[in-house]
Amino acid sequence: MGRSVDTAPDRREEEAAGCGRNKYMATRVALYPGSFDPLHNGHLDVIERVSRIFDEVVVVVFINSAKRALFAPQERMQMVDEATRHLSNVRVDHSSDLLVRYAARVGAHVIVRGLRAVLDFDYEFQIALMNKRMAADIDTLFILTGEHYSYLSSTIVKELASYGADVTALVPPAVVAGLQEKFRAREGLNDG
Ligand code: ADP
Repeated sequence: MGRSVDTAPDRREEEAAGCGRNKYMATRVALYPGSFDPLHNGHLDVIERVSRIFDEVVVVVFINSAKRALFAPQERMQMVDEATRHLSNVRVDHSSDLLVRYAARVGAHVIVRGLRAVLDFDYEFQIALMNKRMAADIDTLFILTGEHYSYLSSTIVKELASYGADVTALVPPAVVAGLQEKFRAREGLNDG
């Protein structure tokens, strides 16, 4: 029978004295960047899972002037903020900077991206390698979609909502309200 060495008492003493390894451990910050136009349950599932791995998760709403968005950056941030209120180590920010430059500024070394299908992989692989080339100390962590969310995208959610379909099972409540407001306003414009 092998011997088991109990090192826990030593560690507890070190930590109590403030000289344990934990004292020197940096806070692990992960960035989860995206358009989030709008946030859906597939995104939220990724955020919840990542928040259990890292000390802090920053959901970064990226503003890409080349992409036409339905929601303004502030609206997208507000919806993420409301939907993640139950997660104390998650916060939301926005940026229009180069992602690796943003990461360096906030001291993050990990970028999280979600993968739905093989289709996502080529593009994500290319971006991750390019980011690595620009910033060698930053890694991209790929998280596989939750089994119920592989079909879900912001584009599909917007499309369904534009036809007045029920999207309550696909997005957090704050987003349902946001979508209803947007498309009601549009209907109003069309009626006028
Ligand atoms: P982007 O415009 O940067 O692709 P999105 O807002 O569409 O941003 O998505 C942000 C991140 O979430 C991306 O990494 C994307 O692959 C991931 N993602 C999107 N939909 C899902 C989903 N259903 N399940 C898991 N991850 C997803």
